[in-house]
Amino acid sequence: MKIFFLRIVNFFYPVTCSVCGDDLSFLSQTKICGKCKESFSVIKNLLCQKCGMPLYDGGEYCYTCKKYPKEYAFDKMRSVYLYKDSLRSLILKFKYSDRSFLAKDFGLPMYETMKLHSFYNDAEFIIPVPLNIVRRIKRGYNQAELLANEISIKGTSAR
Ligand SMILES: [Zn+2]
Ligand SMILES: [Zn+2]
Repeated sequence: MKIFFLRIVNFFYPVTCSVCGDDLSFLSQTKICGKCKESFSVIKNLLCQKCGMPLYDGGEYCYTCKKYPKEYAFDKMRSVYLYKDSLRSLILKFKYSDRSFLAKDFGLPMYETMKLHSFYNDAEFIIPVPLNIVRRIKRGYNQAELLANEISIKGTSAR
């Protein structure tokens, strides 16, 4: 009965990829098709131990972190993808075009990256960067809060 209902809803409001617009299965849990996900540039092993930027020539730290060790006010940062091309457009949609549902698509890879780089070893809290109250009201949500919530859910269910 639920599937029948979903088919009807999908007929009027088809589920499409938020990047390329291709149709997705009406049962799809994601709003990004596999082809688009594969096109995102994942940051792999060779990266700066502090800021997480890719290191194309190897080493432990990037030029900035080596030369200016106090440049960043954090101990360690990691990113899942390079901020470019279709991913960049998608993040801008997530932030400014009422696509709060994308938090689910970003939550899992963020959780997996944090786990891979041992962020959970000493962490007691996950705290999203607050959003200015006026922006929060205008946007209707704080994207960092949605992501923190998704990461927390994934972390809790994995234990
Ligand atoms: Zn797509
Ligand atoms: Zn660095």
